[in-house]
Amino acid sequence: VNVFFRPIDKINSVIETYPKGIAGFRRYLSLLNTDPDIADTRGAVDAPKLSGAISFRDVGFGYEHGRSILSHINLEVRPGETVAFVGPSGAGKTTLLSLLPRFYEVGAGSIEVDGIDIRNLTLASLRSQIGIVQQDVFLFGGTVRENIAYGRLDASDADIREAARRARLDEAVAAMPDGLDTIIGERGVKLSGGQKQRLAIARMFLKNPPILILDEATSALDTQTEREIQRSLAELSEGRTTLVIAHRLATVRDADRIVVVDRSGIAEEGSHQALLELGGLYSRLAQAQHH
Ligand code: ATP
Repeated sequence: VNVFFRPIDKINSVIETYPKGIAGFRRYLSLLNTDPDIADTRGAVDAPKLSGAISFRDVGFGYEHGRSILSHINLEVRPGETVAFVGPSGAGKTTLLSLLPRFYEVGAGSIEVDGIDIRNLTLASLRSQIGIVQQDVFLFGGTVRENIAYGRLDASDADIREAARRARLDEAVAAMPDGLDTIIGERGVKLSGGQKQRLAIARMFLKNPPILILDEATSALDTQTEREIQRSLAELSEGRTTLVIAHRLATVRDADRIVVVDRSGIAEEGSHQALLELGGLYSRLAQAQHH
């Protein structure tokens, strides 16, 4: 999963390219080898405020010529729906979701948001409405406040506190030497894994995008922390279209729909119960989780 990792010093050039309103996906940009050729198409317009309907229409994609990763992907996601993506490692879940913010261009077919081909939208306006929570949270060596407001520099103190509260980061912040003004990172306080996750969630409450992409953490947190983060994420996804690369059975069970991706594309789709009864790839994956 960490094959995309790039050193943090690369982040500055990325920030310059995308000056505002895009917390989270900058991190993604730093993780993924995004295609440098992707830019606004001629005549691209700013996206209206999206309701979060997403359509993948016969989408095909490969990183290298002649080596297809995804083909004939068809998927309709309703505004506010939570869809869990599961499947074997390397099946293409991350790849599929990275096409939505146009980190890569589809090789075939199209992706639409609210009925608009994403290629007809400016990158900044598209990406400002997609929030991404990665398992490796990008933090820089500033204050907690700056790290939460990252991507929304105009945020008020009240907004930042509210975001921290909703992400259940407020107690931890209160216990820090300088509260929100505590320096974190190498020169300051080191955050725990759970606190980093909460900070990432606080960023998203502040950013308030209609579409969320969650890459669920696989790293071990203690059960209590994990449950709380799960609850915060559930609250965060409330009223937003949420696409989650799911590693936990609980997440999958709570999703409105499960999409099972394997090397040939979408293998199965349906509810937890329906897929168990189908007795296919999903039921085997679910079974493997119990052992
Ligand atoms: P995991 O659950 O392990 O994260 P995944 O289902 O998300 O897996 P992807 O990360 O999308 O799968 O990878 C799908 C395929 O694409 C893999 O074979 C992977 O090696 C390949 N791949 C991913 N990123 C790149 C890249 N930047 N360049 C070339 N190949 C890539």
